[in-house]
Amino acid sequence: MMHHKTRVRFAPSPTGALHIGGVRTALYNYLFAKQQGGDFILRIEDTDSSRFVPGAEEYIRETFDWLRIPFDESPAKGGDYGPYKQSQRKDIYKQYVRSLLDKGAAYIAFDTPEELESKRAETANFQYDASTRGKMRNSLTLPEEEVQALIKSGTQYVVRIKIDPGREIIVDDMIRGRVVVNSSVLDDKVIYKSADGLPTYHLANVADDHLMEITHVIRGEEWLPSAPLHVWLYKSLGWEEDMPQFAHLPLLLKPEGNGKLSKRDGDRLGFPVFPLQWTDPKTGEVSPGYRESGYLPEAVVNFLALLGWNPGTEREIFGIEELITLFSIDKVSKSGAKFDAEKAKWFNHKYILQMSDHDLAALFIPVLQEKGIPASLEKTEKAVGLIKERVHFIGELWEQSSFFFVAPTVYDEQTVRKRWKTETPEQMRQLIALIAGMDDFSAENQEKTVMDWIQRNQLHTGNVMNAFRLAIVGAGKGPHMFDITGVIGKEETLHRLERAISTLP
Ligand code: GLU
Repeated sequence: MMHHKTRVRFAPSPTGALHIGGVRTALYNYLFAKQQGGDFILRIEDTDSSRFVPGAEEYIRETFDWLRIPFDESPAKGGDYGPYKQSQRKDIYKQYVRSLLDKGAAYIAFDTPEELESKRAETANFQYDASTRGKMRNSLTLPEEEVQALIKSGTQYVVRIKIDPGREIIVDDMIRGRVVVNSSVLDDKVIYKSADGLPTYHLANVADDHLMEITHVIRGEEWLPSAPLHVWLYKSLGWEEDMPQFAHLPLLLKPEGNGKLSKRDGDRLGFPVFPLQWTDPKTGEVSPGYRESGYLPEAVVNFLALLGWNPGTEREIFGIEELITLFSIDKVSKSGAKFDAEKAKWFNHKYILQMSDHDLAALFIPVLQEKGIPASLEKTEKAVGLIKERVHFIGELWEQSSFFFVAPTVYDEQTVRKRWKTETPEQMRQLIALIAGMDDFSAENQEKTVMDWIQRNQLHTGNVMNAFRLAIVGAGKGPHMFDITGVIGKEETLHRLERAISTLP
């Protein structure tokens, strides 16, 4: 091997929103590179202009910014191996097409789409290969002068790789081991089209991996069938010595385990399959994203890391630095990983619990501001600290904590029927007097004073406290009562009690 430094790449085609499986591929590349002190490169594979979707490249950039997975080299950042967008590398590829043609490892073909179509109609399982190329219109069958004349006259052509039949092609895969394929099953794939002067995916991908000195190609299982052709191209181009090592990652499966996770599964079961919300520029259709659904980037990174890899222990919560230390391709599973939306939620909950009240409050204050609710950082910190145990998403904080910030305007009917009894208004009036007389309004002192009063008067603790809660919260939910009143303060507590007495029967 000529190279020493580990260099891996994430090479998406900008054809729409990035699927969460693609995000996992990028994450594994990142973890692998950083563990080895290597580089992680973003390369945009946009040679197929017919599949280009506006906004897709920006979406990729935003995704990894959000997840805090930085690229060492990318279209935006640049680097010594640029440009990092294949559409800007057009001229680079031409010499390799030329060299393959000169070596006789590739040939020019003039068959029109219609001609190919009729061949396919006439021969079952038609494949353009050693067994059929002799009957087609290409530089192997036509006289040299005719080939030159056709090119001169501007006839569109493609260049095809010439696969010799009956050879063993060996793909050494770090996850799957050695895969041996007979070259006879491959077809003479198109590697270049004169129409746009661009190579196809296969040639551009191989040439760039070589030119960018990529040491390991870590990508989704769906690319495994392309690997023998890629190995063939490396050999044909004389780059065999520097061939990267392959690792084809297991598929992300539907929650039920049968088949690949699709956007439809997400819609059906109510979870996002995209990192960020995506609006299809053609149809205007909006698909939900993890970010907009209230997931924390650290939680997404953590659960994706464990979809197809595990450190061999029961532990599940890992920060990015720990993941970098522990990750290993050996522990990536060969079989597909079932997507588990409940588990994703669980991770998010765990990360919310791990956050400091201060940081949670900082995320929550903008939500409050949007609702026009002024809240101090101190109060917000206390409120989120008391209810974070109950939420899975930042978006649920409001639902669980609104009563800290606004007095109830309506009271839950069922709770009223059950908890607001004939004797309640009188008891609440006494409670008001008791509270009004408190100098120390700490949760501890409130609790002590109120409990003493209940005992002295032989009241029923449950009845009093449930009615008290109804008056303060508007329903039968929420954390410890005196923690709530401690946060909202004495004035507000008295005010809410008065209001309940005057509003409720
Ligand atoms: N452009 C391919 C994709 O969209 C890259 C596959 C590879 O990593 O080689 O995933």
